[in-house]
Amino acid sequence: MKVLVVGGGGREHALVWKIAQSPLVEKVYCAPGNPGIGTIAENVPLAVDDLPGLLAFAMEREIGLTVVGPELPLSLGIVDLFEEHGLLIFGARRNAAIIEASKAFSKDLMKKYGVPTAAYDVFTEVEPAVAFIDKVGVPIVIKADGLAAGKGVIIAQSRDEAVATVTDMLSGNSFGSAGSRVVIEEFLVGEEASFLAFTDGKTIIPLASAQDHKAVFDGDKGPNTGGMGAYSPAPVVTPEIHDFAMAEVMKRTVDGMAAEGRPYRGVLYAGLMINGNDVKVLEFNARFGDPECQPLLMRMKSDIVPVLLGVARGDLSGVAVQWQDKAAVCVVMAAGGYPGDYRKGDVIRGLSEAAAIDDLYVFHAGTAEKNGAVVTSGGRVLGVTGLGATVKEAIDRAYEGVGKISWDGVQFRNDIGAKALRR
Ligand code: ATP
Repeated sequence: MKVLVVGGGGREHALVWKIAQSPLVEKVYCAPGNPGIGTIAENVPLAVDDLPGLLAFAMEREIGLTVVGPELPLSLGIVDLFEEHGLLIFGARRNAAIIEASKAFSKDLMKKYGVPTAAYDVFTEVEPAVAFIDKVGVPIVIKADGLAAGKGVIIAQSRDEAVATVTDMLSGNSFGSAGSRVVIEEFLVGEEASFLAFTDGKTIIPLASAQDHKAVFDGDKGPNTGGMGAYSPAPVVTPEIHDFAMAEVMKRTVDGMAAEGRPYRGVLYAGLMINGNDVKVLEFNARFGDPECQPLLMRMKSDIVPVLLGVARGDLSGVAVQWQDKAAVCVVMAAGGYPGDYRKGDVIRGLSEAAAIDDLYVFHAGTAEKNGAVVTSGGRVLGVTGLGATVKEAIDRAYEGVGKISWDGVQFRNDIGAKALRR
């Protein structure tokens, strides 16, 4: 079978890497891919939002399965389009991808179906929003309703900041139409974890637990990023928390989406806030988390293709997923300045030295090829992912890889996985 992966970041490199190992697969294409992906698959110069181009490619090359990485094509309806043309595709349909594309939708869904989440309300006018801020007090969390690339969430520490943020978002100044509605919610404390599951709309198969590191600097300091690293398993997800999340979060949500006439197929990602035995959902994503996807797929023992096919066909019954009894840690190496304005075009050194290390894989995210060299081209550049018998071993392996690689202005966190060690 020929497989097409849509996307070109670390998540898609990990997907391509895993899919290419399947005996069911003869060739993998990736659109648009990146130089790292190009070493194991064929890159196709099509953008992720070029739906007609992607459809024409899949029809012409007789692609047996398309796998969608990022949220943008899902919310544009790539799954609906491919299905209308009789093609098998893994991902959420447009009317289900709204669980990520609209925070107001996902909060209302959680309320309706009893999924635990922070107390909240949705506003389109400043005056009632300010009254709500005064009722709840600070700190308080203000979220633009629509997709804002992870930047639409403000944790306001003072009333002035909260009022200014709401006024700014609702006026359309900072997030355009994504901010024309805001969700304001109670501030939660605890430790975050990423809980992902494959689902065909009925059967739910959980992935291993994982934890992301969103803040740019060590010790969770500095502004939030797309993710500076991740590890799996996450000990904060105890067996009790796992069972609770499956029953009270995943099952309620998948059943709720079906009851709403929006059957959910694909991978469902719940961002959880865990405080002791208390679990609340911070957000849903309609796709694999990046970088969590990298350590998760390194640990996945089973062939991923039967799972992806089961989801795409709407029948996961009889499919099981097994995990290696090992830990994996991904350290993101980013360009200087990220998550603000960052440098591009710096030559990356040491990739082949890192590639020589066993149980280590360097997934490419923001890289490009220039005059025969691999150079930086995005904020998050590489995901250096190590496997080990313990979290400690996986951390050491990942940082051994990081130590081989350099470019001018490179930055990375030195404490990825440290939280797991403290437990
Ligand atoms: P992502 O980058 O994952 O797509 P997002 O823009 O969809 O993020 P959320 O995940 O809802 O936004 O929030 C981003 C981060 O803000 C969370 O990971 C968490 O650290 C923090 N956060 C969100 N809601 C709350 C809350 N109610 N209480 C405390 N912190 C919160």
